[in-house]
Amino acid sequence: MQVLAVTPEIFPLIKTGGLADVTGALPVALARQGIATKTLIPGFPQVLKAVVKSAPLHQYPAMHGGKASVFATSVAGLDLLVLDAPHLFDRPGGPYGDSTGADWPDNWRRFSALSFAGADIAAGAIAGYRPDVVHAHDWQAALTLAYMRYGQAAGTPSVMTVHNLAFQGRFGAGIFGELGLPAEAMSLDGVEYYGGVGFLKAGLQAAWAITTVSPTYAQEIRTPDFGMGLDGLVSMRSADLHGIVNGIDVETWDPQTDAHLKATYSQKILKKRAANKKAVEERFGLAHDDSPIFCVVSRLTWQKGLDMLVGVLDEVLASGARLAVLGSGDAALEGALLAGAARHRGRMGVVIGYDEALSHLMQGGCDAIVIPSRFEPCGLTQLYGLRYGCVPIVARTGGLADTVIDANEAALSAGVATGFQFDAESGDALLNAIKRAVAIYADRPAWATMQRQGMKSDVSWDRSAAKYAELYRSLIARRT
Ligand code: ADP
Repeated sequence: MQVLAVTPEIFPLIKTGGLADVTGALPVALARQGIATKTLIPGFPQVLKAVVKSAPLHQYPAMHGGKASVFATSVAGLDLLVLDAPHLFDRPGGPYGDSTGADWPDNWRRFSALSFAGADIAAGAIAGYRPDVVHAHDWQAALTLAYMRYGQAAGTPSVMTVHNLAFQGRFGAGIFGELGLPAEAMSLDGVEYYGGVGFLKAGLQAAWAITTVSPTYAQEIRTPDFGMGLDGLVSMRSADLHGIVNGIDVETWDPQTDAHLKATYSQKILKKRAANKKAVEERFGLAHDDSPIFCVVSRLTWQKGLDMLVGVLDEVLASGARLAVLGSGDAALEGALLAGAARHRGRMGVVIGYDEALSHLMQGGCDAIVIPSRFEPCGLTQLYGLRYGCVPIVARTGGLADTVIDANEAALSAGVATGFQFDAESGDALLNAIKRAVAIYADRPAWATMQRQGMKSDVSWDRSAAKYAELYRSLIARRT
């Protein structure tokens, strides 16, 4: 089976979020299921710098005002097709905006070009290659499925994966004329979205199947609270909607070999975590004692719900837990967390910034990780926590609800609990969960059982890849 994936990001070349981890890891896991993936990505400078360019396989003399071509290359075991269009992609800054973070005003042109090329390749533009399935990721690739639907590849099965419904690629109606779609596409069942053009909306409409990154999030986005304006469409397509939880890279995240840890360890020798905990104490300026350290590793945005942690900060510290927070984002939230640390010197420490190495040390040394998200399509930090024996304390939403087994009485007595869940959007419920965790921590054998149970959870990509493979096969069987 041949799959063409279309995505704006792929690890290790270009990454702003979990999407890149998925598109980078899934092809490797699918290969073990006998499925070959080629991935079409934009020729961003970060990509062109890292790959060896080859002769063009397909060329466009004028694509949105400049020459473009597609060439093949491979990196880290990934087969890539790169859309080389310097006038669209060869720019400083990030993939979607300039160095100040402001979106490029022609993003609709840039990602309709990516999608246009994706649909051409689906239709056989590259000699000798015809994918059996096309898999588009997020709004930047979503128009691929609309170009296929209104073009030559309508008979090719397609999958639209939504990594976060908050990002939709919404533009004014004025761009429609330049997209190269037939007039009939500017309709309610096409690309039209609240009077403008919606890229993700068009993909959701055209896809043979839709997936999102956890079963609970797949349910949630059918409701107005989580659907962000697309809940009606998502509900209409619910028969074709699937939730498949992300895996993690179990080689990069392995407490037995992780070079970022002071001491590596396994389920059998959890006491070696003490050296990592001591390093966390030093790094965060925490006084050394016997109490648990709960951590946060997060973007500091509204989605992540850390304002609710700030709201109950004094009670959390009074409950006996210490706090170590690593994150960056909203200035107000950064300020509130720093003020909390100043108030509770020695019991709470904050590092503002993005620090991959420190995030590993925290998972390997802290006792629990707190994730109070308002919504969370899948979430990765709770999966790292499970793998590292850093017990997740999570809001009951999206992928957090699907991956952590709450330490209620039944789960505790059966020995299957892996963490703590609480009602999302409630500071009181968060505080309660933290108090429950502090109480169980006092019973060290019970705590160690929870840690070990989490470390036994299968968080690898293999299970998820098998689900994608099954979905691809079911779509191919539907092909006429
Ligand atoms: P999202 O993609 O919404 O930010 P996820 O939990 O899916 O949330 O993924 C977040 C990823 O970013 C994880 O790998 C996490 O460890 C990492 N991360 C977030 N903030 C930081 C930070 N300040 N320093 C280091 N890593 C971070």
